[in-house]
Amino acid sequence: MKKHSRLFTSIASALALTASVSAWSDEQDFSSMQMQGIEKVEVQVDLEGAAQRLSQAVKFQTISNQDRSDFDEAAFHDYHQFLEDSYPLVHKTLKREKVGDPRPFSLIYTWEGKNPSLPPAIFMAHQDVVPIAEESRDQWEVEPFSGDIKDGYIWGRGSLDDKNQIHAILEATEMKLKEGFQPERTILFVFGHDEEVGGPEGAKHAADILEQRYDEIAFVMDESAPLIPGVFPGIRENTALIGIAQKGFVSLEIAINGMGGHSSQPAEESNIVALAKAVEKVEAAQFPYKIHDAVRYQYRFMGPELPEAQQPMYKAVAYGNDDTVTDLEQKFFEVMEQNQVTRAMLHTTTAVTMFNAGVKDNVLPPAATAVVNFRPMPGDTPEVIIEHVKKAIGDKRMTIRDISASTPATNVADPHGEGYKMLEKTIRQTWGNDLIVSPFFVIGGSDSKHFQARDFAPDVYTMTAIQLESVKEFEGFHGVNERILVEEYGRSIGFFYQLMDNLNNL
Ligand SMILES: [Zn+2]
Repeated sequence: MKKHSRLFTSIASALALTASVSAWSDEQDFSSMQMQGIEKVEVQVDLEGAAQRLSQAVKFQTISNQDRSDFDEAAFHDYHQFLEDSYPLVHKTLKREKVGDPRPFSLIYTWEGKNPSLPPAIFMAHQDVVPIAEESRDQWEVEPFSGDIKDGYIWGRGSLDDKNQIHAILEATEMKLKEGFQPERTILFVFGHDEEVGGPEGAKHAADILEQRYDEIAFVMDESAPLIPGVFPGIRENTALIGIAQKGFVSLEIAINGMGGHSSQPAEESNIVALAKAVEKVEAAQFPYKIHDAVRYQYRFMGPELPEAQQPMYKAVAYGNDDTVTDLEQKFFEVMEQNQVTRAMLHTTTAVTMFNAGVKDNVLPPAATAVVNFRPMPGDTPEVIIEHVKKAIGDKRMTIRDISASTPATNVADPHGEGYKMLEKTIRQTWGNDLIVSPFFVIGGSDSKHFQARDFAPDVYTMTAIQLESVKEFEGFHGVNERILVEEYGRSIGFFYQLMDNLNNL
């Protein structure tokens, strides 16, 4: 309810700028929200040196494996040393702390501002990368950790996700320090070491530390979608999506412990079948659809850019409320549920991800376990989800426990606030005006969810400051042939350089 009134007042204040006071119900403004009149800025970057440094960075195999005991401390240690050697002014001027519980491989940098009374800004990125799937190795055009520079690209794991962002931030900072720049407000960098497994050791711990240190964080930026032409269904143009809210994360283990036995004399129902039935019920009991505030904002910005015939529906979504579902909103559900990505935006998702039972062909296993992963909408806490699962199963033999470092759905960052405007301005300064900028609801989540879920840092905006050529290029994230255009990497550095200037107006 609180968030809804925030949505209402934000939209109402936006309206007040464009329309004279009129009946709210009939005169809902649905004109374009795109910022006008921003001039492109060219930033001169030492592109060759920067490309070499990112290429070197890729060589450190800072992998996050699902098995957390399989962890290469030396890779992180050496990478930290490499950062220190590569960015001397950064490491001379900024305070660097190594944090994490239990493993201290995440980095917090503090760049003291001229005015310490201003709440700080945080730039986030992560050092870890996903492993290379063995079966995909032969599809790589280069060694995945070679950092090869060829055909105008820097190749390798981490070149897009997400060492590019760490290094673009550090390159820009080194440039700024060379020019004698000091920011008005303190700027912090938080570079996690376990984002790819949810950030329980790194970002969560960093959020604990910074929550103690600061009452309020003015602005957080972290990775998410890069700029891609055609990334948004229905829009062919180049689009920059700025994440303003992230879903939560909960994994439940469902287990049955019963009688095993010899396969020559089976009972009427085996543990495997009992568990399979339970899991089937959980999958069938989907959480109901609702429209998240971030989705309403998204369509307020995106709607006017979509084909006119569809606009009444998007307008209904943008201006709807949580108390009633209108016919047009019902139609919106029907459109969105046809695609698994857009469907995930509508509810707490239920994904059965693991099923373990049995070790021998003639032995009935005495136990069986399954894991179901949920990505919650606001309000669906672990307790709510456990209740939902228990009710769906209706079988007292099943035990249910939360096995995740669960995180709740986050707050919603203000898309009418100065932080959002500053990002849009910087995007247009870097990539020009031939693109659409819109807030969006992130159905996954990155390290910054540990901040955004807390009230001291709700205004988290997520985007990856890189222009991709096509949607196909996006497959490099976690896939094969991850690579970044050298020239584009240069623009990314320019983006952060410009953002550091623009922060002064925040
Ligand atoms: Zn990432």
